[in-house]
Formats: sequence, C-alpha cells, structure tokens
Amino acid sequence: MTVGHVLWPDQLDADELARLRPGLPADLDREPDVLVVGGGIIGCATAAACIQARLGSVVLVERDVLGAGASGGAAGLLVPESHLGVDPPEFVAAMRRGLDAWRAMESTWAGGVGLLPYDWQGQPQARVNPLRAIVRLASGVPCVATGVNVSGMTCTAGQVATVSTSAGEFRPRQVVFATGLPPGLAGLDLNLPASEVKGHMLCTAPTRLRLPAAVREADIARVIDDGRVLMGGTLDVGDAQRVVRPEVTERMWRELISAWSALESVSVEYRWACFRPAHPDHLPVIDRLPGLSNAWLSTGQYKTGILMAVETGQALAEWLQTGTAPPEVKPFALSRDTLRG
Ligand SMILES: Cc1cc2nc3c(=O)[nH]c(=O)nc-3n(C[C@H](O)[C@H](O)[C@H](O)COP(=O)(O)OP(=O)(O)OC[C@H]3O[C@@H](n4cnc5c(N)ncnc54)[C@H](O)[C@@H]3O)c2cc1C
Repeated sequence: MTVGHVLWPDQLDADELARLRPGLPADLDREPDVLVVGGGIIGCATAAACIQARLGSVVLVERDVLGAGASGGAAGLLVPESHLGVDPPEFVAAMRRGLDAWRAMESTWAGGVGLLPYDWQGQPQARVNPLRAIVRLASGVPCVATGVNVSGMTCTAGQVATVSTSAGEFRPRQVVFATGLPPGLAGLDLNLPASEVKGHMLCTAPTRLRLPAAVREADIARVIDDGRVLMGGTLDVGDAQRVVRPEVTERMWRELISAWSALESVSVEYRWACFRPAHPDHLPVIDRLPGLSNAWLSTGQYKTGILMAVETGQALAEWLQTGTAPPEVKPFALSRDTLRG
C-alpha cells in the first residue's frame, strides 16, 4: 500500500484514473487460459506479455485498485547503470535486459507504455510514471477486475484446479501470482521468507532550476516533468507503519538543500511512502510453485520491480507457453541457497 500525497495520479487524466479501478466486469471469464493475481506492475506486465505471446484468454484480478501496492509509489526509474558495482553482475545484466524489454514494449504495445527518456550521469536510461505504465499495460488486457481478493485455491493431481476469490471461483488453465509479497492463501503451503522495506519519496513544485553537478553525481535527486525535483526513496528498515513520517521527509529535504541551496525557496508539494516487497537476499522469486505444474510466482521484486517488470512478464509468458524455465530466471529460483538469508 502507498500512503501520503503521491505525484503520479495527479499526472493522469480522468480516463486514465478510471482505468485504475474498472471494478467487476459483467462478462468476467471464470475459466481463463491464464489468471494473473495482482495488479501491480509485475501483474500488469505479465498479463500483457501473455497476450503478446497469444496464450489465450487472460484475466487480471486485483484486490484493491491497480497500482495500489509498491508500484504506485515507486520512483519509476529504469536505470540499470546505477546498479553497477552495487548489485551482483548477473543481476545488473538482467536489469539491462529489463530496460531493453521496456524499450521494445514501448514500440510493440498498442499506445505504448509511457516510456520517458532519462539522462543518468550522461547515459541514456529511461523512466516511467508507474501508474501510467500500469494503465497502458492494463488497457490492452481485455478482462481486468479490481476489488477482487484471492483467498484460496484447491489442487488436483499436481495442478491448481480452482482459485477462490471475493468475487467467486475461477478455474484457470494456468495461474500466476504477482502479489508483491508471497500470497497467503488457504490451500497453499508456501513457507517463503519475505518482508517489506519502507521508502519515503518527495517531490517539489515545478521549477526552472537545473540539477547541479554535485547533486547529479551524488544521485540524490532528479529533475523530472515541469522541472519538478523528485527525491527518494529512503530505506526505512524496521518501520512498518502505514504513515508518512514528517521527520523523515524533513531530513531528506534538509539533505537536499544543503547540497542545492537554490531549492530553499521552492515548496515541497508531494510527500509519500511505499513498501518494497523483499526476500532476505533482496533478489526476486520467479518460479513455478513446488509440486504444481500450472502455477507460478513472482514476488520480492524489492528495489527494481518497475525496471524488471516487462522482462519478468515475458519470461513467465515463455515459461507458461513452453513448459520450460527460460535460462534468465534461473537465478531467481525458489531453491537457491541465498533465499532464506
Ligand atoms: C520508495 C520506492 C521507490 C522505488 N523506486 C523504484 C524505481 O525507481 N525503479 C524500480 O524499478 N523499482 C522501484 N521501486 C520498487 C518497486 O516499487 C517494486 O519492486 C515493484 O513495484 C513491485 O511490483 P509488484 O507488482 O511485484 O508488487 P505490488 O506493486 O505491490 O503489486 C502487488 C499487487 O498484488 C495485489 N495483491 C496482493 N495479494 C492479493 C490477493 N490475495 N488478491 C488480489 N490481489 C492481491 C496487491 O494489492 C498489489 O496491488 C521502488 C519502491 C519504493 C518503495
């Protein structure tokens, strides 16, 4: 859940805002070829990839509104180069593929995905308004339902047979759980360690200021649409409360002003906090559910779920189609040694 006053919805028009909350369609397909659970960026990108891979009918269900989780509050940066020397080289390679996948999606998905150019320290990277990207992806999915909580499932002969929800039962041929954190479902015995890492964000009023070299090099803030200055997110480990803490946003602002004094006269218009889903080793899980041939999971995308969404969705769609795990998801298996910390 994202809390506080978030910039991204204010950049959407009325039609885009309505598409975040379609409610329950009258012609809800109860027996889709693919049921995707979770309307964050990973669920929306997975549903889109399944459609592009022609996997048949695709239904996307979300318990709240689309983008209600971490995705709707993220900074929306698609900057693999900022992870060089920070994250494992093979993960940085995956992030680079992730950016390439966004670029390809921008040109192959009807209406595009809202990709914006972003210069990161002289390197051409990209960014999105994550809610607009969600709207664009979901707009090409024929059946999207919000306000539908998935609560359980039954299995027969190594397959998910039924999925129970607040809107009744589904009998999908295949199902993907893209629930941010691992889903807690009746009938699913999944002992997967995960937690959330809170992050605060702030954004100023429009300015005409240019980013000073010191701020750019320290990578503590960026200038986005209308010259607004976007800062964050923080890593507020141990703070699970669904509140924006004024002392944290004040500390962020003071840090920024001390590096960029011209900002002192500018007002901060947006302050919000959201919660990164994470596994102990800070790598995502992208895998088939143990013992089930028709159910998959993508959770714990931590700091890079927006960047990795299109690549993840396409890898899952390929796996659903071929029955074989694509090599790029192997580092994100449930069986890896580091997963349990
Ligand atoms: C401050 C901050 C800044 C960030 N900036 C960036 C960035 O610049 N770039 C980047 O790549 N990443 C960034 N991230 C990380 C990114 O936000 C996450 O990795 C990503 O949003 C995770 O997406 P998701 O779809 O897996 O999860 P979520 O967005 O949480 O979506 C999961 C959805 O599943 C739904 N759901 C859960 N359980 C059920 C159920 N039982 N039934 C139905 N629906 C269910 C939830 O309601 C939710 O909408 C940032 C995160 C934070 C906190």
